[in-house]
Amino acid sequence: MTLLDGRSNLLTIDGPAGVGKSSVARRVADRLRFFHLDTGAMYRTVTLAALRAGVDASRVSEAALAPVVREFVIGRRMRVGGGGRVWLDGEEVSDEVRGAAVTALVSPVSALPSVRAALVDWQRELGEEEAARYGGVVVEGRDAGSHIFPHARWRFYLDASLLERARRRLRQAAGSVEDPHELTTTMESLAQRDRIDRERAVAPLCVPDGAMVLDTTHLAIGEVVEAICAAVQPAAEPPPPERAP
Ligand code: C5P
Repeated sequence: MTLLDGRSNLLTIDGPAGVGKSSVARRVADRLRFFHLDTGAMYRTVTLAALRAGVDASRVSEAALAPVVREFVIGRRMRVGGGGRVWLDGEEVSDEVRGAAVTALVSPVSALPSVRAALVDWQRELGEEEAARYGGVVVEGRDAGSHIFPHARWRFYLDASLLERARRRLRQAAGSVEDPHELTTTMESLAQRDRIDRERAVAPLCVPDGAMVLDTTHLAIGEVVEAICAAVQPAAEPPPPERAP
């Protein structure tokens, strides 16, 4: 049985920037004891590798990214763990990839077809391996259910108003939701990333076919997790029994 036949325990969570996918995915994975695959962390790691190779915003192109994709993705000089942990050449960069420099560059980098093709291949491979090992995988990203795993058993799409997403981002970054300037700047940057993610030619952000759409604007994170687990639990198979030694 493969993940692509739709019978494996694969759960996808798609949605725009700042909606809370990572926090929700982490908690759902904990509850179900599934592996948590954060695909955004993979795009961020490629972006950090590009920055370290001297590629800046004015030089993002297929040609400039080709050596980075070849060495770090295909050559596996980056490594991906559960819960969004990532490494470059053995150095853990999980915090660095979430910093401002990477965040500013990640959307144009992830709009490049060669970057997407290489990462999607790897994400499908990781999904297969980790589902076999853990009994299930929660995959989160912009195209988790619409493109990477369109036949996943459970597909969810999280949404929230731009204002609420900006507030969540600021709280996460310990910024002030009371400061109108910070709020406006954060809304602008989220809207800009939304636009690039929705308008790109390859696998744009969209609601996957058959996905359950959850408007989380007025929901606490725990309520979102409950809603997802309630939809999944009755159908979820118990984890495989431990083998006798
Ligand atoms: O989810 P996160 O904010 O870490 O994702 C960073 C960026 O990576 C997104 O803004 C998007 O441009 C890109 N991304 C993507 N496809 C995914 C996950 C992330 O294009 N599946």
